[in-house]
This record gives sequence, structure tokens and C-alpha cells, in this order.
Amino acid sequence: MGEINAADKARYDFKKAMQEIVEYRGRGTELISVYVPETKLISDVMAYLREEQSQASNIKSKTTMKNVTGAIDSIMARLRTYKTAPPNGVVIFCGEVPRAGDQTRMVQYVVSPPDPVTAFLYRCDSEFFTEPLESMLLEKKYYGLIVIDRKEATIGMLSGSRISVLKHFDSLVPSKHHQGGQSSVRFERLIEIAAHEFYKKVADNATVVFLDSVTDLQGILVGGPGATKDFFIKEGYLHHELQKKVVSPLFDTGYTDESGLKELVDAAQGAIQDMQLTVEKEYVQRLFGEIRKPDGGLSAYGEEEVRTAAKMGAVDTLLISESIDKKRVTASCSNNHTHTLTVNDDEAPIQCPDCRQPLKVTGSQDLIDEFFEIADSFNTRLQLISGDSEEGDMLLKAFGGIAAILRYKVA
Ligand code: ZN
Repeated sequence: MGEINAADKARYDFKKAMQEIVEYRGRGTELISVYVPETKLISDVMAYLREEQSQASNIKSKTTMKNVTGAIDSIMARLRTYKTAPPNGVVIFCGEVPRAGDQTRMVQYVVSPPDPVTAFLYRCDSEFFTEPLESMLLEKKYYGLIVIDRKEATIGMLSGSRISVLKHFDSLVPSKHHQGGQSSVRFERLIEIAAHEFYKKVADNATVVFLDSVTDLQGILVGGPGATKDFFIKEGYLHHELQKKVVSPLFDTGYTDESGLKELVDAAQGAIQDMQLTVEKEYVQRLFGEIRKPDGGLSAYGEEEVRTAAKMGAVDTLLISESIDKKRVTASCSNNHTHTLTVNDDEAPIQCPDCRQPLKVTGSQDLIDEFFEIADSFNTRLQLISGDSEEGDMLLKAFGGIAAILRYKVA
């Protein structure tokens, strides 16, 4: 897998596999889940599985016993291909799931989780055990939050819709109204020194809490009641890596405590949504701009047209809707006609288009995976488009969810 789409592809594969894995139910207690952390010796896992296998011989139902030992065999065969567990560990799901009639088929998933597996775990149940992976599907991306004035500041974070307070500070900066009889110039100067120290302290703490996870940091929202927030940002108190992520404009809030963080998030709602969808929106807008040109510009849309252009290396960026649930299957009939067809995820092709005989499926691949593979061979970027924006919705409805911005016009 080429560098260009690797992260997006891994995320897509994980999401897709999880969608399938959670749906399976076994006829009996016979679906096996094994979580292997990076630090666990494969030989220890093998020993554990052999022990489970000998226990399984006590299972009363012959069928369940056969299915459990078969699944353990299959998992051990898979684990033998590892010298050590990969970084983040590995999770294997294996078992017999029902199929039409009395039939079952064995499914096996080997999942490379996006976050580390923390503990070794073996489960045999009527469904696969997925809880430890589910939290990994959650968005890790977050926003930093700072509300500040001269008296107080609070640092927090927003991930998903959850706001958490990370640090709170009260400043010792005297109010300008309490000058009393002091020389006002000298007093002003003391106040400014105290304020400077306070801003530095807030900025240093922001560095401590945000800099380690700066790649997941989508932006820093800054708010407060007065001009202090503007001064704090303009004077560059924040670490330069954080300063680059400050979202402009800054936001007015009435408070600088926890409720100030809530006000800040409310005020920034529009900006946050825009940021999340901006990349996707920009691509789709570019596509529409091309399509609107009298000669169709550098655009292609529709599955066949896009596939042809992509296989010529003519595609700069593939735009594919995340919600197309389709697969690409190869199938042949008894007259040896072979066809490659696109069908809905829950369908199989029925009739040979040439002779109307039943088709037998010989190969099947997720449609988006097929496009990831083509994209990789031609250094083409594949941008998945969610259905969350008007643009994403339009891509799906008007163009079947598959379009491309071209490098050059395909005749
Ligand atoms: Zn045929």
C-alpha cells in the first residue's frame, strides 16, 4: 500500500471489518475472540490456546465442540505466521456462522487495531467480543480550548461533543482600579509584569497538555470577555506549534471558567463544523466546478467511466462516498462465461448476462477497496466523502457516489 492513501485505507478497513464482525451470531457458544498485546509472547498464546482446545473436548454438543476446536486450530495456524505480535498487537475473531439452511461457514478476521491492545484476552461466546475495539472507532481528533482574561483562565478540550476542563488558573494580577496612593506609573508596571507572568504560565501549561498530541489537535479555540485574549494571542505567548493552530477569529465569552468553555464551544460551533468538512467540501466543489464547464472540464463520474480513467492513470483525485455499500464480484456460469460485476453488499449476481444460466461467485471484493488498489497503482489520491454535507449528499445521489478530478482529459 502506497504512502498516499495508507492511513485512510487502514481506517476504512477497520471500520468496515467492525461493522461486519459485530453482526455475527453463532448457533452455539462457539465464536472465538483473541486479543494479543504487543508484549505477549506468541508461544504463551499458543500454550493458552492448546489448553482451551483440550478443555473444549468436554463440550456436550458434538457440533459446538467440533466448531470450537476448528476455530482454535484456525487461529493457531494464523498465529504461527507471527514471530512476535505487531505494534498495537493483533486481534483475531474466528468461528462458524450460520448460512442458508443448516449450513455454516467459517469466518476469520485478523484486525490490526489503530490503538494498542492493552491486555491478553480470550473469549468464546455466541457473538464476537468487540468492546475493547469499539472505543478505538471514536474520533481521537480534538480541539484545544482556552478562555482567558486578566483574572482567570481555563484550559480544556473538546473531543466529539465532550468538553473537559484540564487546568484552571486564578491570576494574582491586581486590578487597575485599586491603585490607591501609589505612583500610578510604577504600579502600572508591576501590574504588567504580573500579567505577563500569568500569560506565560497559561501558555506553558497549554504546551504541557497539547504539544504531545499536537497531530490530533484540530485547532485551538480561544475566548474571553475582553481584549486580553487578543493580546495573549497577538503577543505570541503560545508555543509556535500551538500558535499555528489558533482558530481565527477569537470568540467573545462572558466567563473564563468551566462555563466559559461551554460558551466558547457554542460560539465556535459553526467554525468547528466547517473545519471538519472543509477538505471534503473543497474537493467536491472543485469537481462541480469542472463538471459545470461546457466541455465537462477535468471531471469524470459514474463507476465505469471513473474506473476506466483511473486505470489509465488519468485521475488526480478519486472522490468516493463512504456510504456506497457495494462489492465487486467475479462470477462464472456453467458455459464458462466469466463476468466481473458490481452488486449491492447483500446481493449476489444471479444470472449470466450472456446465457441466463446461474452464476457462481469465484471472487469478491469491497468496491471501495478495489478503488483504493487502483488509486495506489497510479499514485492517485482517494478522498472518502462523508454524507454529512450537502456536497457529500449530492455526490451520492447525483453521481452514484463515485467521481474523479482528472489529471488530463480522457477522450
Ligand atoms: Zn453464461
